[in-house]
Amino acid sequence: TRILGIEGTAWAASAAVYDGATDDVFIESDAYEPDSGGIHPREAAEHMHDAIPRVVETALEHARETDDGPSSEPPIDAVAFSQGPGLGPCLRIVGTAARALSQALEVPLVGVNHMVAHLEIGRHTSGFDSPVCLNASGANAHLLAYRNGRYRVLGETMDTGVGNAIDKFTRHVGWTHPGGPKVEAAAEDGEYVDLPYVVKGMDFSFSGIMSAAKQAHDDGTPIEDVCFSLQENIFGMLTEVAERALSLTGSDELVLGGGVGQNARLREMLESMCAQRGAEFHAPEARFLRDNAGMIAVLGAKMYNAGDTLALEDSRVDPNYRPDQVPVTWRADESD
Ligand code: ATP
Repeated sequence: TRILGIEGTAWAASAAVYDGATDDVFIESDAYEPDSGGIHPREAAEHMHDAIPRVVETALEHARETDDGPSSEPPIDAVAFSQGPGLGPCLRIVGTAARALSQALEVPLVGVNHMVAHLEIGRHTSGFDSPVCLNASGANAHLLAYRNGRYRVLGETMDTGVGNAIDKFTRHVGWTHPGGPKVEAAAEDGEYVDLPYVVKGMDFSFSGIMSAAKQAHDDGTPIEDVCFSLQENIFGMLTEVAERALSLTGSDELVLGGGVGQNARLREMLESMCAQRGAEFHAPEARFLRDNAGMIAVLGAKMYNAGDTLALEDSRVDPNYRPDQVPVTWRADESD
């Protein structure tokens, strides 16, 4: 199976080709980088409009070059695209591109949930059977686990996504987007100062800690100390709930997904928590953590092989598409 994947939920205009025979994933991405402030939906959509045709053409070129089938046939078996969640104006451009390609190449369309793709890529690269997944991305933060045909949301943010929370703080202090890597660098020289830590049951909240961090900065607390403490508390909260999710499900496998998963301190905390309870931990390589079409193509292939393709009239995008809305067709043979 060879699948073309297209991703464009927020900032990454990305296209990929996944080859099921070799397990090779070719990814071509073009990132939207705001001059100032955060991600502006209209500007991000303009970026998609401009960049999607380019990255798709590069991916298709790769597909043609590596295709040994008859040249009269398309070099891919299906077009998979991120159907949501994400910014509406961006999603609509990706949806239109995917529909047009599927019609022009006469191959089926596969609608992929972006959050489930963040999770499945970790399951794919780890080979784990039924892991708990921590999705730590820009606009989201979820603990997910599979049960009875769906990925259930065991815990999630009650307000902003984890990356967006960090980015709001860095915007306040005048750093350019994205803020995550800058906080990580500054935190290296920091010491702990008191900031809120909010876990309620299986859910967490980031808005209070963000306000307190902004205030601490305005009050003259060294930025290194604020960054260090932000990381300790936010990642501590995610790690605590991840541990509770492992305990609740009885799983001994944890995978990490999402752009914030590139952070070494978060990985270190999760790794040592897993080691202490005899669980295995897996974080995919960075190109699969941040938004990318590779994860869309890989899950697209699993869905395509399960016969889970979309009729044109069902291919509308959904900015609020939740992971637990997705019937998990590609694990039908797995019982629990
Ligand atoms: P979603 O997948 O929820 O739609 P998204 O589209 O914003 O989110 P991702 O690529 O998953 O995108 O994540 C981007 C986020 O990752 C940004 O908020 C960025 O600040 C954060 N990030 C990137 N690198 C790091 C890092 N080293 N440490 C912490 N955060 C990071």
